Amino acid sequence: MMDPTVPGKIPHESGVDRALDGALFDVPYHVLGYEWSEDGPVLTLLPLAMEGSGLVPDGRHFEIRPVKWREVEFRISRSRHCTGRFEGGEYIPCPLSEEVTLFSQCPSCMSHDIPDPDCIFEPHCNTGSCGASFCRKEHVVYITSFRGHHKVGMTQLERYLTRGREQGADIILPLFVLKDRYSARFMEKEVSRTLKIPQSVRSGVKLRSWSGPLRMSEQRKALERLKERVVSRWKDIVGGMPPSVNIGKGPEGTDIPPAELDYPLEEPLSSPPMRYRKKVLRGEVMGFKGSYMIFRSGGLRAFRMGELPGSVLYFRDRLES
Ligand SMILES: [Zn+2]
Ligand SMILES: [Zn+2]
Repeated sequence: MMDPTVPGKIPHESGVDRALDGALFDVPYHVLGYEWSEDGPVLTLLPLAMEGSGLVPDGRHFEIRPVKWREVEFRISRSRHCTGRFEGGEYIPCPLSEEVTLFSQCPSCMSHDIPDPDCIFEPHCNTGSCGASFCRKEHVVYITSFRGHHKVGMTQLERYLTRGREQGADIILPLFVLKDRYSARFMEKEVSRTLKIPQSVRSGVKLRSWSGPLRMSEQRKALERLKERVVSRWKDIVGGMPPSVNIGKGPEGTDIPPAELDYPLEEPLSSPPMRYRKKVLRGEVMGFKGSYMIFRSGGLRAFRMGELPGSVLYFRDRLES
């Protein structure tokens, strides 16, 4: 039995793989976050040290900007462990270092920020707040274009540009404003159903499209035409709306122009990148778009950085923080 007063440890996974010069990948960092800022993605790392057969925090967490990488070489742990939480800027590690799968936090750490995890995907607190900071904020329903493949989605009004970048969209156009998250998800589904716009675009479709021409003005016009259809079908879209849905501004009152999203990646790519899923990664970094790092190792490869939080990255040397 584990003594509940002793913090859990992340198991150390020794690897047989070595760096190209024969060095071991034995300098571990716990990935706490991968987020988009205006000038590219930011990776939050916590230095770790060996203690017995496990890994424990060894210093303060720090942020690095992977756009500065020219070459990368690291090993990724097979298991992912809870990233803990932040309280007023202070980092609080997970007391048990729980193994995680879907989310990067264990239910106990997540409950401090999001008491009801259902509200991430299926918000339902339309009468009172579940306690999550985002449920009562103004949201938008938007459409995005990925080289002409469209999807409808919803997000907080204040972070729609970030949401577009997280997904690797070429352009995003907010359609209308809702008073809360529950209303936004309801209306997203109504737009999807009425106009037959899907709520997701598969990652394979996105990756294949990145070697095609951008044609921004065509993509922009297509989104503007879709918004016109939302305006003309508005009665049908709100037809089945229960009184619990709170619309802030309808499509005619929402005057947010389409935003072209830029990325630290030269497009079009010379060929479609292949998904890379191995646990040792080395190559020349070409850039970042959405969840992916594009790098060259043989051909072009796409590695999903967005899935890193919770993993341990083993480098051959200490990183400069
Ligand atoms: Zn936890
Ligand atoms: Zn909620």
